[in-house]
Amino acid sequence: MSEKAFPVKIGLEVHGYLDTREKLFCMCKTDSLSSSVNSNICPICTGTPGSKPMAVNAAAVDKLLEIALVFGSKINYKDLIWQRKHYDWADNPKGYQTTISGAHATTNAVGGKFKGINITELHLEEDPAQWNPGTGKIDYNRSGLPLVEIVTEPEFSDSEQVVEWLKALVLSLSYIKAVRKNAGIKVDVNVSTYGERVEMKNLNSLEKIRKAIEYEIARQIEAHDNGEVQERETLAFDEKLGKTIKMRSKEGAADYRFIRDPDLPMIVVDKKRVGELKRGLPEMPEKKLSKLLTKFKVGEKDAKILTRNLELVEFFEKLVEFGVDPGRYMSWITIELLRVLNYNKKSLEDEDVEVKPEHLAELIKVVAAGEITVLKGKQIMNDMIPKSFSLKDHKGEISSIDESAIENLCQQVIDENLKVVTEYKGGKDASLNYLIGQVMRLSERRADFKVAGDCLKRLIG
Ligand code: ADP
Ligand code: MG
Ligand code: ZN
Repeated sequence: MSEKAFPVKIGLEVHGYLDTREKLFCMCKTDSLSSSVNSNICPICTGTPGSKPMAVNAAAVDKLLEIALVFGSKINYKDLIWQRKHYDWADNPKGYQTTISGAHATTNAVGGKFKGINITELHLEEDPAQWNPGTGKIDYNRSGLPLVEIVTEPEFSDSEQVVEWLKALVLSLSYIKAVRKNAGIKVDVNVSTYGERVEMKNLNSLEKIRKAIEYEIARQIEAHDNGEVQERETLAFDEKLGKTIKMRSKEGAADYRFIRDPDLPMIVVDKKRVGELKRGLPEMPEKKLSKLLTKFKVGEKDAKILTRNLELVEFFEKLVEFGVDPGRYMSWITIELLRVLNYNKKSLEDEDVEVKPEHLAELIKVVAAGEITVLKGKQIMNDMIPKSFSLKDHKGEISSIDESAIENLCQQVIDENLKVVTEYKGGKDASLNYLIGQVMRLSERRADFKVAGDCLKRLIG
């Protein structure tokens, strides 16, 4: 699709899970994505008749405001009236979804920009429950989770651009801890080519989004070539079939009968609070990236690895503060630290992971000074997850082994492996490696590889 004789316009409505501990209108926990079915529920989030919502979770409002600040949106301070958006579906126990949006509503923020794309508006709303049409069962753990909906202007022109933008969005929002990275996003994608726009609802992975856009653009072009006129319609993308399926046309457009929610007071946003939030925002990924490249002279590949995760960049910056040369010892983070984290299926932001940069700095310095071997250093690194320690408290670990001790070990290895020694003497060089390996094993890898080799050769004569 290199030549564009027609304009492709794509606009998004992105729903992200705000990273709060409790739900939007009750005190149920939000960690429900990893909990068993219907474990984090109460009368409020199951829509039990007679239950009333609690006042909005202030943490959710804060997170939304932080997102608005990142976009540079205009924040609305008043007239933030909760609306009931009515629809009948099994996932919607109250018969309405509570939202700061709707035909005549003032949304939380309007305008702003992210990576070249203008933002129309963003607002808070609650997530519906999860209905499984196969079993007929409903899981209310998700019901009432705080969502941000971000609506963009229709300024994208292809699937690649959309996917890259969404990746950058999720990364930035995870830097400010506004959305839960592993909870994923749900996106409604609007696509128009020759005719009216078509909306594809609830795409929940980047791969689906890419496929759906590509399929839909091609479908619209073909329909146009066949003389069809595209009306407004809503489609669902069926990944198994790899195609879009009609849900409703413009005539059948959903009428949500928005009304003001009588049980909830308006949200009032405090200017002072917005100022505090603004001052508390961390540097964004692109700022970190350019700092790594210019100030710390980190190579592009490593810089990209580091900026994929705020905790990791900040860890790196602290290491440098503790006097570690970023150029020479980069691999201790980009390879070793990540290796041990991955092996333990952990990341730095996990609550049970407590790795202090000063401890790693200490370790790197001891290795750099030749006090312990690189191999031993890596081994100590293995034990630093989930909780790091100072080497001062683990003297035994580093008491590096001096040459006379190595010589004793070499003699022991020779005595115990006379057959291999004879082979080596007979010209089989590989046998030496075996002997060195034995010395390393006996020394618990504290012996220096080269010293051990030289010593063995000398003793064997
Ligand atoms: P609705 O409630 O009908 O979905 P919204 O205002 O919530 O309307 O969403 C509008 C979405 O449609 C936005 O993401 C916007 O970018 C997109 N959009 C509007 N006009 C077009 C168009 N001509 N082509 C593609 N997308 C469009
Ligand atoms: Mg919509
Ligand atoms: Zn609840």
